[in-house]
Amino acid sequence: MKSIGEFIMVGRFNIAFFSVLCGFLLIANAIAKAPSNDILSGYETTKIAEHTWYIAGPLATPNVANKGFMNNPAFTITDKSVIVFDPGSSVLVGRALIKRIRQLTKNPITHVFNTHIHGDHWLGNQAFINENATVKLYAHPDMIRLAKNGEAKVWIDMMMDRTEGITKETVAAIPTENLKDQHIIKIDNISVKAHLNKKAHTITDAMFEIIEDKVLITGDNAFRQRAPRLDDGSYLGNIAVMESALKLPVEVIVPGHGAVGGKTILSDYKDFISIIYNTTKQLKDEDDLEPHEIKPKVIEKMSKYKDWTGFDKALGKLIGVAALEVEANDF
Ligand SMILES: [Zn+2]
Repeated sequence: MKSIGEFIMVGRFNIAFFSVLCGFLLIANAIAKAPSNDILSGYETTKIAEHTWYIAGPLATPNVANKGFMNNPAFTITDKSVIVFDPGSSVLVGRALIKRIRQLTKNPITHVFNTHIHGDHWLGNQAFINENATVKLYAHPDMIRLAKNGEAKVWIDMMMDRTEGITKETVAAIPTENLKDQHIIKIDNISVKAHLNKKAHTITDAMFEIIEDKVLITGDNAFRQRAPRLDDGSYLGNIAVMESALKLPVEVIVPGHGAVGGKTILSDYKDFISIIYNTTKQLKDEDDLEPHEIKPKVIEKMSKYKDWTGFDKALGKLIGVAALEVEANDF
């Protein structure tokens, strides 16, 4: 028989245990239930490595329905801080991303890394300055230069136009910290290695290797499930970047657009752009064909990619850009 003392102890233990359990259930419920009233509602926060999470953005281009949200924001929680990669196209994405981070940690958000000049990836920076005035914003030196020289305004205006004013509160928070190629930035227990390209998706690209997590944030150097835009870039440069990325000691790839996966994202995207460039080069050099004549031949070789969002619409332009690059290289 239990003594009254023992009974009270057991009773107290049960009450304590019950309170803890309720606490856990409340927290679990809060994490499962993403805030329903912001731009990220309906998009899950997904854990992709020991310290790193991401939110898979939609594949469409900016419009009223997606409110301009279309990239893959990611973050890494260190033992004391939080590091953010590409916080989206507007202050609305930035604020919603902070809410998501706050469901998981109270650590200060101290570093934001941007992959390139295209505003769908970095106009969310503003929210992080508002939350922590000492946050450091990093980018390729040419991204910072171009943003200051008018590109920031081009992207702010484009987002406003495509979303019919939904992004109107957004102002450009241009990064101030210049990245260097192969530079490792040590943040608490996490090391972020910057890989800077010459000209690939753009002339402003940085990829980020989260060394301890074996994660690579590619920015738009790699796409998945969605046709790219290469107007500002180089096929041969982008192919070379994919080849070097395939050699990195990473296991998880966060593409600029499309779901996270393994290294096949890099080889598939390398094949995507290689088929377009090589077929265009061959048919121009050997048969002197024009882009509209080249298109059906490229389509024949790309059945694997025909369901990628925007494929039909983008292909003509992609071949036109490839033809110009072929001509420039043959000159
Ligand atoms: Zn881009």
